[in-house]
Amino acid sequence: MTFLWDVCDTCTRRRPTRTCWLYPERSVCPYCCAACPERGQCPRPVWLTELVAPRPAAPARQERRRAEAAKALEELLKRLEGG
Ligand SMILES: [Zn+2]
Repeated sequence: MTFLWDVCDTCTRRRPTRTCWLYPERSVCPYCCAACPERGQCPRPVWLTELVAPRPAAPARQERRRAEAAKALEELLKRLEGG
């Protein structure tokens, strides 16, 4: 599913929006979709995929890469201090 950078009809901010499932005449951003009081009755919240099932593999890999980078920097600094 695609989204557009548009003005959210609920919060009026410029954000990625999708067409609301309950009100097809409205655009909704992920924040308003998540906070929507009618979300419980909505058969298909348009931002459900991202909000309910964030891909867990990507952040873990990113975290490890960050840890490796931090370690490499630490070793480099130690070497600089020692020399
Ligand atoms: Zn919004």
